[in-house]
Amino acid sequence: MTFEEAVLCETLSNNVSKSGYVKPTPVQKHGIPIISAGRDIMACAQTGSGKTAAFLLPILQQLMADGVAASPFSEVQEPEAVIVAPTRELINQIFLEARKFAFGTCVRSVVVYGGVSTQHQIREICRGCNILCGTPGRLLDVIERGKVGLSKVRYLVLDEADRMLDMGFEPDMRRLVAAPGMPCKESRQTLMFSATYPEDIQRMAADFLKTDYLFLA
Ligand code: AMP
Repeated sequence: MTFEEAVLCETLSNNVSKSGYVKPTPVQKHGIPIISAGRDIMACAQTGSGKTAAFLLPILQQLMADGVAASPFSEVQEPEAVIVAPTRELINQIFLEARKFAFGTCVRSVVVYGGVSTQHQIREICRGCNILCGTPGRLLDVIERGKVGLSKVRYLVLDEADRMLDMGFEPDMRRLVAAPGMPCKESRQTLMFSATYPEDIQRMAADFLKTDYLFLA
């Protein structure tokens, strides 16, 4: 698979080229076609493997193909994709990549994380939110404040799942997956990424992903 084969939309394709991406990394080469085919995946991938683009590109491609566009200012936003990562640095990197790839499109991404005031983040959400990136606790916070509805979520991405468990985020992740409005696993596409694949991650994959999920090592 080349990026030309994977990325059909011209704006997205130009943004990929502008990022200097020429050749897909292995996780992109194998992951993008599977995600584009609508399947759940559990991918073992380290930071630096290119996993961010592996999930962002097929998500953006599909949202753009479906004509998804950020809705104007609204007190409650209903994102199509929710991306969760354990740290502020990591989720911010994902957000910046999402914004870079979606440049010039109507798909709007927002990032939320703890340790700073929620007010500015809520204002950003209210301006339109198709892809909501966040650390687990702050994501739950904005959902529980009623600023984010989950009923339109088509993609749930759990990045660095093993680090999230190490940092004690399992209860938050389970609360998020079971939050009111969150489509059940049969009705959403769930993409899990983890550097390691210990038993607790296998259990989580069994709980969060459809039974025919693909394991990508
Ligand atoms: P990630 O593993 O997603 O954090 O990506 C690690 C770094 O590799 C980031 O700086 C990306 O921008 C870069 N990167 C990802 N995929 C490619 C690619 N196909 N070609 C060149 N650089 C890439």
